[in-house]
Amino acid sequence: MKIVVLKFGGTSVGSIDRIKKAASIIARFTKKKYKVIVVSSAMSGVTNDLVRKSNQISNNFNESEYDVLVSTGEQISCALISGRLNHIGLKSRSWLGWQVPIITTGNHKTSRITNIFRYKIIKYLKDGGIPVITGFQGINSNDRITTLERGGSDSSAIMLAKFFNAEKCIIFTDVEGVYTTDPNIFKKAKKIDKISYEEMLEMASLGAKVMQPASIQDARLNRINIDVKSAFKDKPGTLITRKKNISNRIITGVTFTKNDSKISLLGVVDKPGVAASIFEPLSHNSINVDMVVQNISADGKKTDLTFTIKSDDIKKTEKLLRNNKNIKFKDILITKNVSKISIIGVGMITTPGVTYRMFKALSQKKINIQVISTSEIKISVLIKKAYLKKAVAALHKEFKLEK
Ligand code: ASP
Ligand code: MG
Repeated sequence: MKIVVLKFGGTSVGSIDRIKKAASIIARFTKKKYKVIVVSSAMSGVTNDLVRKSNQISNNFNESEYDVLVSTGEQISCALISGRLNHIGLKSRSWLGWQVPIITTGNHKTSRITNIFRYKIIKYLKDGGIPVITGFQGINSNDRITTLERGGSDSSAIMLAKFFNAEKCIIFTDVEGVYTTDPNIFKKAKKIDKISYEEMLEMASLGAKVMQPASIQDARLNRINIDVKSAFKDKPGTLITRKKNISNRIITGVTFTKNDSKISLLGVVDKPGVAASIFEPLSHNSINVDMVVQNISADGKKTDLTFTIKSDDIKKTEKLLRNNKNIKFKDILITKNVSKISIIGVGMITTPGVTYRMFKALSQKKINIQVISTSEIKISVLIKKAYLKKAVAALHKEFKLEK
């Protein structure tokens, strides 16, 4: 059986017209002799609205009831899709997570799919039906409805592709694919034809909000090829696949953050345990620390420590640092409006000189680099936010991403 999983995101089922369009896309695949499994998110805005309602009822809304509530958005969209498929003469029915069943483990709100029962769906496919399955939800060992993390219908699609051994998993969304950088910031951004899981994970967690990061990890572990494409235009999208399927290319994309701040602690006593004492209260207060650098202390006594956080956390962080009795420092410097800009590419593992090219391209535009951090497939620098567009353009050009 040639199975394809087609996943529709919130905007691609965001209105009655769009649901009709989704149904015609599904119909096209059945004509290609595919057995189609459909998985859908809620119509756009619906899940947020349900979350809002739960907050209005209680600021401590019961978590298992939260899952019952917020999973209902998918019930609506799936019934409408099936109804439309019936209308155009196709055999179809909706399936809620527990009806399949899709088994999950872990806490409410952040469950993970561990198993999907196959037989009912396989039988239905063999009988010529199109199952339309609710994304984002499952059932746990206590027979309670669960939801995955927000954006989790991507994970549902990947796991359905895994358990049904699908030939393809296609994610229909409101963009044409994954871009070399954000097209809203830089007009010359180009759609990427193929990208590795590893690069996509970096891009997703650094702000290219095309797919839920956890779902890409699931795809990577299970070697599922994902096609991301537009639900509105019939154009090739981006294939997310294994590294070895990707030809020579040094850099795949440029990503950036827009809401970071930098904190420097000057004259910190340089002795074992200091860094831990600084960061412990921050971690207890869920403050996400990103880039960290510590200077080498010239005299072995005092050093400076710099790190970045989200700008929303500035006040809280400053207070925690000033009230921390376990650390001593001379001064604290806070710089708002910085951006982390990163180049990403598996090609940099084997290509020397990438770091130098990045720094040179920025220096030619007189952009000062404040902090640097690197991983195997990523180089990030911190710059003034005002230079963001200029920096993106310079790097895009240096690594020939518009070609
Ligand atoms: N409807 C859910 C959400 O908004 C799941 C999803 O969109 O993937 O988070
Ligand atoms: Mg989504």
